[in-house]
Amino acid sequence: MAGVIENQKKSVVIVGGGVAGSLIARSLQFSADVVLIDQKDYFEIPWGSLRAMVEPSFAERIVINHSDYLTNVRIVASTATNVTETEVITADGQSLAYDYLVIATGHKDSFPRTRSERLSQYKSEFEKIKSADSILIVGGGPTGVELAGEIAVDFPGKKVTLVHRGNRLLEFVGPKASQKTLDWLISKKVEVLLDQSVNLDGVADGVYQTSRGETIKADCHFLCTGKPLGSSWLKETVLKNSLDTNGRLVVDEYLRVRDLQNIFGIGDITDIKEMKQGYLAQKHALVVRKNLKLLLTGGKESKMAKYKTGSEMAIVSLGRKEGVAQFPFMTISGCIPGKIKSGDLFVGKTRKELGLNPDH
Ligand SMILES: Cc1cc2nc3c(=O)[nH]c(=O)nc-3n(C[C@H](O)[C@H](O)[C@H](O)COP(=O)(O)OP(=O)(O)OC[C@H]3O[C@@H](n4cnc5c(N)ncnc54)[C@H](O)[C@@H]3O)c2cc1C
Repeated sequence: MAGVIENQKKSVVIVGGGVAGSLIARSLQFSADVVLIDQKDYFEIPWGSLRAMVEPSFAERIVINHSDYLTNVRIVASTATNVTETEVITADGQSLAYDYLVIATGHKDSFPRTRSERLSQYKSEFEKIKSADSILIVGGGPTGVELAGEIAVDFPGKKVTLVHRGNRLLEFVGPKASQKTLDWLISKKVEVLLDQSVNLDGVADGVYQTSRGETIKADCHFLCTGKPLGSSWLKETVLKNSLDTNGRLVVDEYLRVRDLQNIFGIGDITDIKEMKQGYLAQKHALVVRKNLKLLLTGGKESKMAKYKTGSEMAIVSLGRKEGVAQFPFMTISGCIPGKIKSGDLFVGKTRKELGLNPDH
């Protein structure tokens, strides 16, 4: 009898094991035959990644094998390369048939495939920082700013230079938050160069040239420019007409890919007009979980939940105790955003959401 029930389960294939994909895989694992396809065999909590570069033991908490929180999911550690109306094809030659498909390939990363390789990478980045007297950070978005903050606070004796192509830091938030961030970095003796880029080709003896002809001397550099969207693999597939001109997946109010009944899109890859933030990617996952649970049990499409954009906020940590936060009606910086985010960087909370011990 148990076998009969098993055979009746529909298959849900989820592509992308980041913030949105890992959450929906976990929440559907006992409702369907779930397959998670991810380029790597672990989930990494993105908002803890810069702390992990200055404190390698932190990396142990943010790099989590998919198998540690997904007990009833088939995990396929390979890159999805094609999708048809019925299956997803992976780089290692597998064809995964689906009744429902969820695309959550937010941003493409070049992380190594295994957790232990990723942890070694964090150790070498830590050694690189520790042994350098001067460090160049290229890119003034959240990654570059948070890295500069971590280094400035944990290694105050090091000379940190941050170069950003735009005319203000953190362009995804308002100008007030950018200014507060700039003031904080300057107060920590980080040199910030705006409106210029750095040529990273042919750097000799630690001498870097900027597009404005300035010279920066640094023992090492970190490239913190944005990652490409993870939708290039869809461009020659049945979903090619579902991408907008920026390569984002066009979804309807139920987070279904436009005009398709059984394919959903969640997270940063979608064309929803809102900030691309992990807590919103998680909200998408919860709406699609609801809709899929309904459809998997034969519920009516007319009963599906709609995704509503709401008020947006962003908190960027500045070292271990401070931060800058943009809420709908105000921007604040200092210890209050620091208290909300910068101590543990929501890592314990995120681990708990995945059913794991928050501490280890
Ligand atoms: C430094 C930093 C700090 C941040 N801080 C916060 C914060 O405090 N709060 C917040 O809400 N948000 C924060 N964010 C933003 C947040 O991380 C993103 O919005 C979130 O990760 C988006 O989730 P996602 O699941 O859509 O995509 P991602 O998390 O980018 O996951 C995509 C996954 O898909 C995989 N993938 C891509 N292409 C393929 C393919 N073809 N085949 C198989 N797998 C593939 C990738 O390997 C990855 O695992 C921060 C981001 C950064 C970089």
